[in-house]
Amino acid sequence: MGAVEKPRAEVATTAAWDYAPAPEAREIVSFERRYGLFIGGEQVAPRSRSWFTTISPSTEEPLAEVAQGGPKDVGLAVDAAREAFRTWSRRKPSERAKVLFRIARILQERARELAVAESLDGGKPIKESRDVDLPLAAAHFFYYAGWADKLEYAFPGRRPRPLGVAAQIVPWNFPLLMLAWKIAPALACGNTVVLKPAETTPLTAMLFADVCRQAEVPPGVVNIVTGDGSTGAYLVREQGIDKVAFTGSTEVGKAIQRELAGREVSLTLELGGKAANIVFDDCALDQAVEGIVNGIYFNQGHVCCAGSRLLVQESIHDQLVGKLKRRMSTLRVGDPLDKNTDVGAINSSAQLERIAELVQSGVEEGAELYQPPCRLPEKGWWFAPTVFTNVAQSHRIAQEEIFGPVLSVLTFRTPDEAVEKANNTMYGLSAGVWTEKGSRILWMAERLRSGVVWGNTFNRFDPSSPFGGYKESGFGREGGRHGLEPYLRFE
Ligand code: NAD
Repeated sequence: MGAVEKPRAEVATTAAWDYAPAPEAREIVSFERRYGLFIGGEQVAPRSRSWFTTISPSTEEPLAEVAQGGPKDVGLAVDAAREAFRTWSRRKPSERAKVLFRIARILQERARELAVAESLDGGKPIKESRDVDLPLAAAHFFYYAGWADKLEYAFPGRRPRPLGVAAQIVPWNFPLLMLAWKIAPALACGNTVVLKPAETTPLTAMLFADVCRQAEVPPGVVNIVTGDGSTGAYLVREQGIDKVAFTGSTEVGKAIQRELAGREVSLTLELGGKAANIVFDDCALDQAVEGIVNGIYFNQGHVCCAGSRLLVQESIHDQLVGKLKRRMSTLRVGDPLDKNTDVGAINSSAQLERIAELVQSGVEEGAELYQPPCRLPEKGWWFAPTVFTNVAQSHRIAQEEIFGPVLSVLTFRTPDEAVEKANNTMYGLSAGVWTEKGSRILWMAERLRSGVVWGNTFNRFDPSSPFGGYKESGFGREGGRHGLEPYLRFE
């Protein structure tokens, strides 16, 4: 912060504060020039002989070369997982727990390195990868390590057995955290896995391969095959898999479901969202503004459960929007490795194009756009925090998932109308309710068709709490005791 003390009036107009740069040390992470596939406990060159470069979205600088897994590579990974399943599934559950506890501890020990890698490869602010992604990823392994030898208590009267080989496909918005959500419960239940990271963010998965080595995960229990969507499609087509766990877009989720029709492969889908963040006139307004900002600008809005539709009670609309705009003008957009940064880089040029196209449609359809003045870096992919007012239910920006830092504001008069508008979407992943009345939160939660409903908060996660969708947001739950079930069969 600037050393000179500012007069009060100037402070109150916001944006007058200058922050000194506070860069996190990039040197803590060193990437290899090239990463092979992680199969059977070692890095192997891809049979496809094909590689691609992963770049930093904030600087466009190349970070490393990564293997593009082909059908043969995917087959080898599934074979390795099948082979390892024979011994891993019969291991004493407390021994499996030990391995998971070791992974959790190593993630904590290497947290800084992994957080920097995540921010470099994905563009998210270091304070989020440091304070959210890494602690939650470690917490997931700790949590499921605890269940590994207690599965019979989780499902009393039933005999839980592992399924076999789990094919797991994750997106780019929370690369390591989604890896943890997938791998921790699968291993705790005695399955082995083949994980396919997203093509724009493969590096923390490759560092995780090294964590597996350190934690003495037996060879073949965790296999990682990098590549683009075609690699994911090969994996789903492999006959040796028993389970598919997919997190990503609704479109690809539907394609996977079609591919698996008629096969004895169990499936869970965690797909897109268009969450309503509902603000009643009796709420603590300043607290709600923080929740709205966190709900949509956290991780540049690349969040499946982002509160991208703000439903405000009509009587407080102007006051709330005024406060929100003022708060938005204090958001710092820029270098993801700067500890002061609130909004980092957009993950890829393709995603930036998609955001820009939807924002353009909002303007053309007649909504009113506001962006606080902010200087965006010249290199890399950036989008200023954006809010649209005067949004109609029929606008594309009120219907489609933007997956960027763009908020659409709508109004309501009564709780019934709020429920109706909130549910007027093909998605059903999450919602937020802001009111001082606990009974109203419960009344709303009963009626909202969303897997998660937050009361007077937003984007809160805990490994013990199940997460998942209704409608086109998918099915199955991850997290909590519920998150064990998709990885088990019962005798
Ligand atoms: P995406 O569906 O394009 O890709 C997700 C993953 O699937 C990537 O690893 C990709 O390579 C792979 N893939 C692509 N085509 C495939 C195919 N035909 N077969 C198999 N795999 C294939 O999604 P994305 O753009 O990477 O991620 C953004 C989407 O993910 C958003 O819609 C977001 O809402 C959703 N998401 C959902 C959750 C959740 O928990 N519900 C969490 C994070 C992200």
